[in-house]
Amino acid sequence: KNVSAYERSKILRKAGDIVRSRADQIAKLMTLEQGKPLVEAKMETLGAADSIDWYAEEGRRAYGRIIPARAQGVFQYVFKEPVGVVAAFTPWNFPLNQVVKKVAAAFAAGCTAIVKGPEETPASVAELIKAFDEAGMPKGSINLVYGIPAEISSYLIAHPVIRKVTFTGSTAVGKQLAALAGTHMKRATMELGGHSPAIVCEDADVNAAVKILSANKFRNAGQVCISPNRFYIQENRKDEFVSAFIERAKKLKIGNGMDEGVELGPLSTAKRLEEIEKLVETTKNEGAKVLMGGKRPAGFNKGYYYEPTVFDDVKDNFTIMKEEPFGPLVPILTFKTFDEVIERANDNDLGLCSYLYTNSMDQAHIGSEKLESGCVAVNTGVVAIAEAPFGGIKQTGYGREGGSGAIKDYLNVKYTHM
Ligand code: NAD
Repeated sequence: KNVSAYERSKILRKAGDIVRSRADQIAKLMTLEQGKPLVEAKMETLGAADSIDWYAEEGRRAYGRIIPARAQGVFQYVFKEPVGVVAAFTPWNFPLNQVVKKVAAAFAAGCTAIVKGPEETPASVAELIKAFDEAGMPKGSINLVYGIPAEISSYLIAHPVIRKVTFTGSTAVGKQLAALAGTHMKRATMELGGHSPAIVCEDADVNAAVKILSANKFRNAGQVCISPNRFYIQENRKDEFVSAFIERAKKLKIGNGMDEGVELGPLSTAKRLEEIEKLVETTKNEGAKVLMGGKRPAGFNKGYYYEPTVFDDVKDNFTIMKEEPFGPLVPILTFKTFDEVIERANDNDLGLCSYLYTNSMDQAHIGSEKLESGCVAVNTGVVAIAEAPFGGIKQTGYGREGGSGAIKDYLNVKYTHM
């Protein structure tokens, strides 16, 4: 708080530069511990540096206001002040980005932070924190802890020094932490699970949709909160979509993320593999037909690899339509009318992202308005960028990361009448 916004911005910029200059080294650590292909790890690292730059600028624009006074000699000021010490809990799927979105926003606002990093992917996060430290963060203003997650969160959230809690992870854990934050009246940002619908209309460029959706689906082996998870294809384009999608998925090079050209690495943890195997069995038992995949790839006798898996004959009431498939699973459904598919897409407790492919401006606008999610991607796969607000509604949580509004979650408003 005592370092000016101008100075904080310079420190953040420097941290961004350090991360950028060490991108190869950090990306390598991330791939080794997390499994994603090296190119994806590098993209994430460079993206993290971009986000740091964004917040470096936003901190300098956390303006207050002067309200027109009621009388002469009266001054009516609105100040923005940092909330204080932030406890940030971050997951393993995007080890760097998830920390940066919290910590860079916190520092830009003048807060300090204690990060409970992901035990699954500790090394790349440690490198990031080191970069902040070397950039000149005042000692003690950035802290990293690992350990038993529930012990750390219950201690920190209850502790009087902590003023703000921010968590990214599953809805189940998010609810526990939000309840704890409520008990202790701490401000909270909750970035939880998603179950994103992807709608392909009959007038869409199906090949473009296949290209975007397969890239988004198999990125990070499907372990992405905005991964497209429910594929609704208008019935007269379904066969075309499915055969093009499968053709693409079959060509994906599976392997060690460190190897050149690999596009699909292993799942990150034994728990993820176990849950994916269970969900595939459940989906089959409920009556779905496996069009491709449905098993661990032959020839991979170690690691948590899983084949890209496409299901047909999926019904709205199947488990996979409610339970987030945090892996490379693709349930295919069809729809007849646009109104019908919007209603079915919205019939879910989670609301992070929706994908829509159409060449009708009417449908693009109606979909954008009616889809119940924090982000909507129309004829694109891109929504998570530094300058745009990112976050969900419904049981996906609350608060936004990214964009010019994100910093306000780390600021208190003070009004002085003088
Ligand atoms: P999880 O919620 O159990 O764990 C996610 C992270 O939260 C981990 O790094 C873990 O260390 C931490 N965590 C767990 N319990 C905690 C606690 N009591 N206090 C503080 N931190 C705690 O999820 P998972 O099993 O690792 O992943 C599976 C599900 O999590 C997915 O299906 C998905 O819904 C969700 N997830 C979402 C995101 C996202 O980007 N929104 C990221 C990772 C996981």
